[in-house]
Formats: sequence, structure tokens, C-alpha cells
Amino acid sequence: MTTTPEIGARSLPLLLLGSESDPASERGVACPGELPPASDPELVERARAAKAALGDQVFVLGHHYQRDEVIQFADVTGDSFKLAREAAARPQAPYVVFCGVHFMAESADILTAGHQQVVLPDLAAGCSMADMATFDQVEECWEVLEDMGIADDVVPVTYMNSSADIKAFVGRHGGVVCTSSNARRALDWAYAKGEAGSGGGGKKVLFLPDQHLGRNTAVLEMGFSLDDCVVYNPHRPDGGLTREQFRDARMLLWRGHCSVHGRFSKASVDDMRARVPGVNILVHPECRHEVVLEADYIGSTEYIIKTLDAAPAGSSWAVGTELNLVRRLANAHPDKNIMFLDKTVCFCSTMNRIDLPHLVWSLESLARGEVVNRIQVDEETAHYAKVALDQMLALP
Ligand code: SF4
Repeated sequence: MTTTPEIGARSLPLLLLGSESDPASERGVACPGELPPASDPELVERARAAKAALGDQVFVLGHHYQRDEVIQFADVTGDSFKLAREAAARPQAPYVVFCGVHFMAESADILTAGHQQVVLPDLAAGCSMADMATFDQVEECWEVLEDMGIADDVVPVTYMNSSADIKAFVGRHGGVVCTSSNARRALDWAYAKGEAGSGGGGKKVLFLPDQHLGRNTAVLEMGFSLDDCVVYNPHRPDGGLTREQFRDARMLLWRGHCSVHGRFSKASVDDMRARVPGVNILVHPECRHEVVLEADYIGSTEYIIKTLDAAPAGSSWAVGTELNLVRRLANAHPDKNIMFLDKTVCFCSTMNRIDLPHLVWSLESLARGEVVNRIQVDEETAHYAKVALDQMLALP
């Protein structure tokens, strides 16, 4: 059975979700200089010409959640970690244009060679989840753990979706970075650390900044109970937790979440199952626990792509992840019924800040020899962040 993808066929309310504060202002001016107007009919041709003029000098990375108008110019597409590694594997390209968000460009800068310069076409492209854990807040949390006398028992683990500062904090304290694909392995390693007698820790994990990925991994993949997990709220004294809660918890979850994946609810799943008999529910582990409990399949963006590629023709799928990716997958598989899980059309607003005018502006500036919007992590932060990233690469 061939069906029209539901997204695009329905007239749905539109939402753009992303940073709730405006850390872009702290990062500097989003786009100094003149942007070409979005109405310029020559934009595609200008991007093509600038990229051709740069040749092997530039390597363009496109995250899966980017707009189609941008992704068409990507030399490689992928999730944040895959893209950072791809950039590192291309040392011959002095310029890396990262079409994604700020923390991703930071990781690319950390992993690429010193002569490579990473450009983020719009500095306002942040991430609401990464912005929910600031360095000062995490330092304060660690002081609370020290006051409680449990810091030596705790291994910090941070999701890739965090600032370089937070990755460096984790590297300094003997922890590890994880992705949505290897969170289970990272947690196994962290809990085994104390048992192996390799420098303490291991009884508890402080999981940053996405409470949902931490909880879903601990409960669904590792057999923890919900009571083993507590949520540390950086906006409340002592994280809003009692001494007993700190003592008894095995998983200290930071109170952060993705504004986009956090939108999906059990009601979205129930509604979809009622409307589309036999539908498969496929969601990202950044979704809330109540949603992943109801889902048929759970996995990273790469897993979602592979699952839909392998799905039989005629099958129906409701997908809980960012809409640009779902829409692209629906268009790529017209023989399958691929739908967005929520009733409201919802893009990641910060991902969407990278549009064709910003890409053209970045590429044309580089072609003139002018490096704009460079993302550069200071040496010490990069060193310790790399310690935590390298630990991830060494996971068994
Ligand atoms: S989709 Fe969520 S986690 Fe990803 S960049 Fe947007 S806000 Fe951040």
C-alpha cells in the first residue's frame, strides 16, 4: 500500500522550539555583516558557486535536523558525534562549516586538527538542552555533593548535547561523554569504575544534562527502578533534594530536557494508535519516560533512519523526533506511511536558524578569505573535554 506521508498533507499548527533564554547574546553577534535576503532567487546558485570556488578547502557538515535547503550542500550528514569525527578525518580541509548547533561546532573544533577552523553559520544556533546546564551550576552541584560527603562516589556522565565547558568538567572529574547510541555502555563503565578499584567513584552517576536519556537508559536498559533516580534542580537550594535522597539515589539526573522531544506525550501515542491501526511508534530516547514506555522502537537518529530504511513497504510509522528529519524520511520512502508523532508541527528553532542566506554568507566570506563566526574552544577546556570524549571512544 502506498500512502501519502501525513506530514505535509495535513494543515497543522506550527511551533518552533529551542532555546528558552538567549545565550546567543552571550556568544556574540549572531551574524555580523550583511546577509543576502531570503528572497534572493540566486541563493542556491550562489551557494553552489562559493562552494565550488572553495573546493577541497571547505568541508560542509549537515546535522540530520537541518533544513532541506541547507542539507543539499552538506558533504556528509549525520548526528553530532559522527559529524565531529568526519571533520577530524578530513585534515586537508582548513575550513569546516558546521550546519548544526553551537555545542556540535565546539566538539568539531575539539576533535579537528589545530589548523582547521570551524564555522557556525549563525551564532544564535544554540541548543535549549545544552543551555540548561551551565558551568557555574554544575560546579555548584559538585560542591553540594562534596558537602554531602558523596562526591567521591559519583562519576559524572554528560550527553554529547552539552557545552565544551561541561564536557571539560566531566573530563576533570574522571567521567565520560556519551551519545544516545552508547549511553548504556557509558553508564556500565561508570558504575564499574568503583568496583574495579580504578580511582573511586562508581556508586552513583551524575547524568548531564538530559534527564530523559539518563532515566530511560537506567530504567529500561539497566533494570533500575524509578526510585533509584532523583532529579537535581539547579534552581533550588541543594538541587531540591534531601540528604537521604542524595544518599539513596544511584542516578542523579540533571533537570534538563530537549524542548522538541519533550513535546511528545502518551496522549500523542494513544491518539496515533487510535487513528492508524497497526502503526509502529518509533521514538528518540530524549522523549519523556511515559512516551518511550509506550513506544515499539526506541533509538538514536541513526537508528531511526536505519529502521525506516529497512521497514517493509506499506508499513506505518509514527516517529517522535525532529520534524525536518521525519519529513525527509517520509519523502525518501513514499512506499511507507511515515508520520510525525505529534499533532503539532514542531521544528527545533535553533537548528532552523541555519538557513540558506546564512550558509551563503558563510561560504562567500570564506571564499573571500574571511573566516566568519569561528567557533574556537580554549586550549585548557578543549584538553579536558577531549579527555572525556576519548574515554567515550575507549568504552568497551
Ligand atoms: S532538537 Fe533538542 S537537543 Fe537537538 S539541538 Fe534542538 S533543542 Fe537541542
